[in-house]
Amino acid sequence: MNCPCNPSIKYSDCCEKAHRNIHTVKTAEALMRSRYSAFVMANIDYLQQSHHTTTKPSKREKKDIEKWAKSVEWIKLEVLNTTHGTQNDMNGTVEFKAFFMENGAVNVIHENSNFSKENNHWVYLDASN
Ligand SMILES: [Zn+2]
Repeated sequence: MNCPCNPSIKYSDCCEKAHRNIHTVKTAEALMRSRYSAFVMANIDYLQQSHHTTTKPSKREKKDIEKWAKSVEWIKLEVLNTTHGTQNDMNGTVEFKAFFMENGAVNVIHENSNFSKENNHWVYLDASN
């Protein structure tokens, strides 16, 4: 199967590695891509694991996120810009657009996300405007 984050690459060569072991993720962009794929696959445990502990959703929110992720039809991910977030950085940002169908209409999440390292791997911190 092709990877949800990039249809020209196999899932097994892309986000599956992250989903199996988050420590294999080298860049903030790769972490962001693996989170998009986890949304597509409704892999809520990975979404929690890849979230900074200070901003991690509660158990109740987790259920809502799972329900929502399953209710929409994901279309594609576009990564627009990145700053820092390399293997040697502790922080980074990724600007992206995630397209999905909800209630028969195309929606887009356009976000500039902050990523940082926690427990020696990349995690999602929050969104900035
Ligand atoms: Zn991927």
